Amino acid sequence: MIRTPLGQALSITKRPRAPLQILLNIHMDTVYPPGDPSQPVMEIEGGKLRGPGVADAKGGLAVMLTALEAFERFGSTDDLGWQVLVNPDEEIGSRGSASLLAAAAKNYHLGLLFEPALPDGALVDRRRGSGNFSIIVRGRSAHAGRDFANGRNAVLAAAQLALRLHALNESNPGVTINISAINGGSPTNVVPDLAICRLNIRTTEPQDEQRILSSVRTLVVDLNSADGISAELSGHFTSPPKILDERTARLLEAIVSCGRDLGLLLSHRPSGGASDGNKLAAAGLPNIDTLGVRGDRIHSPEEFLFTDSLVERAQLVALLLMKLAAGDIDPKPFCR
Ligand SMILES: [Zn+2]
Repeated sequence: MIRTPLGQALSITKRPRAPLQILLNIHMDTVYPPGDPSQPVMEIEGGKLRGPGVADAKGGLAVMLTALEAFERFGSTDDLGWQVLVNPDEEIGSRGSASLLAAAAKNYHLGLLFEPALPDGALVDRRRGSGNFSIIVRGRSAHAGRDFANGRNAVLAAAQLALRLHALNESNPGVTINISAINGGSPTNVVPDLAICRLNIRTTEPQDEQRILSSVRTLVVDLNSADGISAELSGHFTSPPKILDERTARLLEAIVSCGRDLGLLLSHRPSGGASDGNKLAAAGLPNIDTLGVRGDRIHSPEEFLFTDSLVERAQLVALLLMKLAAGDIDPKPFCR
């Protein structure tokens, strides 16, 4: 096993005793390696800024800091405290910062996260959950010519398993199983004794996790009963689905109404991708996680943000903070 140390998380706290406490979170990591050829960041046609991570989520960092600066300068700040939590590992599943997120979820009333908005500016209202799994399939190797009947082909067993796993998509609405790899094999004159099937499972409702996992386990048990074949499942769900509960819906409505005040028509819809908002929501913190910039082509060399969205989103969040602090938006419904 190779261990790679993570960067440091950054936490800044202000007015921790104020009655309303807000968590502002975004990640500092991107999917791009140092020296990525899509550097340097540059302005391209159509009011766009292109570069690695500009939308996901460097633009969001700028929006968050500008909104806070405006709030601290011009808001009536006494009744609103906040923590900024910038984590270094979201793009690899926030394994290192999960405990920081879980602890923060307990201490705050609501969360504002600065992942990029959808390309048309829409907010994400709910997100699917996600988990990665592997199934190690073992058979028995044998000479393909001299002793074929004595072999138990692990690659073939894994392929049959993959078909049965894929078929679960049909019978489990709201769940998707993606078979992402089958690794294994041996020289052509050997019956292979090892294969690893890798899969990603996406869920819509919290109860999907146990239901689909028990179906997967049943297939693995079935495979274990085959002559000379054994199979072992590992992996887990890293993000529970983010559902639109009542408190989250109220926060969403408050943000949409701030948008209206600024002449922005904000729509919202679900997304298949998971974010740290999933983890915070599962730990009890209502949050909206797409308050960052408008942009597109994230995780590709063409990633860009619309420069006018930097100001637009900072104004939106600053106004939300000001209204919450002044009581123009009643914070009580968000509180537990
Ligand atoms: Zn992101």
